[in-house]
Amino acid sequence: MRLSSSFVPTLRETPAEAQIASHRLMLRAGLVRQTASGIYAWLPMGFRVLQNIAAIVRAEQDAAGAQELLMPTLQTADLWRESGRYDAYGPEMLRIKDRHERDLLYGPTNEEMITDIARGALRSYRELPQILYHIQWKFRDEVRPRFGVMRGREFLRKDAYSFDRDYAGAVLSYRKMMLAYMRTFRRMGLQAIPMVADTGPIGGDLSHEFIILAPTGESQVFYDAAFEEIDYSSSSFSTGSEADLNRFFDLMTTHYAATDEKHDAGAWARLDPARRREGRGIEVGHIFYFGQKYSKAMGFSVAGPDGAVIVPEMGSYGIGVSRLVGAIIEASHDDAGIVWPDSVAPFRVAILNLRVGDAATGTITEALYEKLGGQALLDDRDERAGAKFADADLMGVPWQMIVGPKVAAAGRVELKRRATGERHEVSLEDALSRVA
Ligand code: ATP
Ligand code: MG
Repeated sequence: MRLSSSFVPTLRETPAEAQIASHRLMLRAGLVRQTASGIYAWLPMGFRVLQNIAAIVRAEQDAAGAQELLMPTLQTADLWRESGRYDAYGPEMLRIKDRHERDLLYGPTNEEMITDIARGALRSYRELPQILYHIQWKFRDEVRPRFGVMRGREFLRKDAYSFDRDYAGAVLSYRKMMLAYMRTFRRMGLQAIPMVADTGPIGGDLSHEFIILAPTGESQVFYDAAFEEIDYSSSSFSTGSEADLNRFFDLMTTHYAATDEKHDAGAWARLDPARRREGRGIEVGHIFYFGQKYSKAMGFSVAGPDGAVIVPEMGSYGIGVSRLVGAIIEASHDDAGIVWPDSVAPFRVAILNLRVGDAATGTITEALYEKLGGQALLDDRDERAGAKFADADLMGVPWQMIVGPKVAAAGRVELKRRATGERHEVSLEDALSRVA
């Protein structure tokens, strides 16, 4: 992408309405613009990141055997009357009437709809288990939308739903999703910790929030450093092996981890001080087993063996895709701007032509741009070098290839790693092979 002809409206000034770093940086780097309270338009750079995050979520869901579908944003009130949640939900639900005065709503979540779809199609226990997911916009009329995309009213969420024959099966689906989540967050360069959350009337211990550390998090969190050392990859655990899933779940639940609400000072005191990790945390995902709550209320059953009737056991599994854009910035930025992890960065390399009009810098930057194809952002604007440095750091692309007249005359470039600030003068070939 050529910056000279791109829509990347960066801001020099810090927007007054933004209280936290990620919100300020997202506005300044031209990733999003607010169009109404808690509702954002994703501009080209921000949209690239959003799609990269969604792609990682999708890849790990697929690898765990979940199947992607797409449910609509609008739902009928009748579905929600079946579960009893239409009246129970309260003012966070956006209620809408169509031209025939029928009650609709903009979905804050999809348990009812997926249950309706499943009951219309599944007939036998042999068709279970199933895990279905979508990545779709949700609307919750939050009392206090704030922190930019981290607490919006409209937000993009991956939500998966599992259907199992029995409790033991539901437990396996839950563990599978938990493992997929740890892999998902690690691939984004995040250390996420699963923490026990309230299960409400369902009871049991099958509700976990996934929390990442960042100074502006909404809750205080405590965990054992052991979580950071676990290898979550498929060489350690297979999502297809029951024994692996159980071993994985034991690891996730024996090491200490708690939010301030559930913190146990005694257990914490017994933990080796060198292993204690404490800080503010942001919730980026939540998984929940709720048994037959919706299947029962909505009359969903399948034929079991020997004439038995089976009411499927369900769970739901959410990841805040749009919140993650902000959360990753909270976890990875410095005074100069965003520091994107390689896996989600909008581009891999920013090429800075420090003197537009100079024959040597022009030739070299164009050659690099051609070689790198879609992975490069070329700063070919007629701007001062200082402004280009500042914008490149602000945008946070992992590598910078800086081409001024002096290095260009020698047929070389300066290669800078955004995260460390390290800069080396290298040949074009070396620069290209280092970023590869
Ligand atoms: P919170 O406690 O932060 O309000 P929640 O517990 O109500 O979130 P869930 O219903 O568990 O949210 O949804 C799963 C995920 O969706 C959350 O972990 C979060 O990442 C994301 N999410 C929820 N509400 C919002 C929002 N208003 N804006 C952006 N993302 C959200
Ligand atoms: Mg939650």
